[in-house]
Amino acid sequence: MKKILIIGNSLSAWSVASAFINKKVNITIIGKKNNTFGAQQLSPNGFRALKKIIQNGDVKNIVYEIIKFQINSYNNNETKNLKNFYFNEFDLKYFSVSREMLINFLIKNVKNNIQINEIDKSCVGIIHREPGKLEVLTDNNEYISADIIIGCDGVNGITRKYVCGTTNIVKKQVFRGISNDKKKILLNQKTLELNFSIYGHFVSYPFVNNNKTYINYVFIPNRLFQNSNEILDKLKSISKFSQIDWNDGHFYIYEDEIQTIHKNNVLLFGDAGFSFEPHLAQVGNNIIEDASYLKFLVENTNSYDEIFENFSRNTCEKKRKLKSISNIVGITFGISTLTKLRNSLVSNFSDQLMSNFFKKIWYD
Ligand SMILES: Cc1cc2nc3c(=O)[nH]c(=O)nc-3n(C[C@H](O)[C@H](O)[C@H](O)COP(=O)(O)OP(=O)(O)OC[C@H]3O[C@@H](n4cnc5c(N)ncnc54)[C@H](O)[C@@H]3O)c2cc1C
Repeated sequence: MKKILIIGNSLSAWSVASAFINKKVNITIIGKKNNTFGAQQLSPNGFRALKKIIQNGDVKNIVYEIIKFQINSYNNNETKNLKNFYFNEFDLKYFSVSREMLINFLIKNVKNNIQINEIDKSCVGIIHREPGKLEVLTDNNEYISADIIIGCDGVNGITRKYVCGTTNIVKKQVFRGISNDKKKILLNQKTLELNFSIYGHFVSYPFVNNNKTYINYVFIPNRLFQNSNEILDKLKSISKFSQIDWNDGHFYIYEDEIQTIHKNNVLLFGDAGFSFEPHLAQVGNNIIEDASYLKFLVENTNSYDEIFENFSRNTCEKKRKLKSISNIVGITFGISTLTKLRNSLVSNFSDQLMSNFFKKIWYD
């Protein structure tokens, strides 16, 4: 029986483990559990893929449907509505999902179907002793052998370094917050809201966590305010968002062009393999989609070399496209000059144009 070692203990790790629920394999997950926080958007591709990797569970029980996408510009404490888009008018289903519930749902799915070993340790190195024989060294000096390693250890993990060597990583600041103010209009209208401001852009939407409804907020400072000492004060001065308890965080982007995501039976998955700007809300959705594709390959291909080769080729090509689109979208969201022109363009987007754009991202 193949011995598969998954390094990491977050969304990617449990999504990948779900890809093997119908196979006779020996799986070990090694990594420390993180505190999960807030929510993520679940676009139609992520929702579809999630249904495919879940064996006997109703995905609908953990998601919250979003019906409207509203784009505003926010200036001098005044909101100006630029565009409203209703997903159901184009037969599109859009959701939000609590990260905690999503990961717990995946864990339950895996454990209900296969025996899994869990090791609450960090890995410090990968050793390739001979062809087909891998070993991982843990932080308590233990060696764990494996036939296959799947790296789900994020942007700064050890598997990325093993497969790709040194990678140039760009670190960008992001602020997140959640609120449980029930009166919030977003909640009533099941709305995903995007607000442009002179400091950067805000994304907010409702989600449900253990029967309670919250609003998830993300603020991405634009280029002028990235890593500025004043940005928290600026955020507090914006009345619409001043009540949020903002948490400072980062996201990371690989500067280098993606070439390959596997070497010597070590496969990179999720942020360890690809990372791009979050403006399309596709990084996490693509993790679930990739797990569904990997599940298909695992169940329909005999050789692991072939699985890795197909998986690497097809996912790299897709991520290259998403990366460049997301980059352009991020520049547009974050511009500090010509904002009137951007706002006027957005106001004049037709519903059909937006639907075509979304379908390109979610269905291509
Ligand atoms: C602002 C923002 C908003 C986002 N919104 C969305 C959204 O709406 N929709 C969406 O689809 N996606 C979204 N994303 C993207 C998504 O959240 C991430 O892509 C996803 O969480 C990455 O998961 P991962 O498991 O690959 O990596 P991580 O979450 O980074 O997990 C890595 C895991 O590996 C472990 N680890 C690290 N090093 C080691 C080691 N040496 N040994 C063992 N374990 C190790 C860590 O402890 C952790 O458990 C957003 C991201 C950002 C920044």
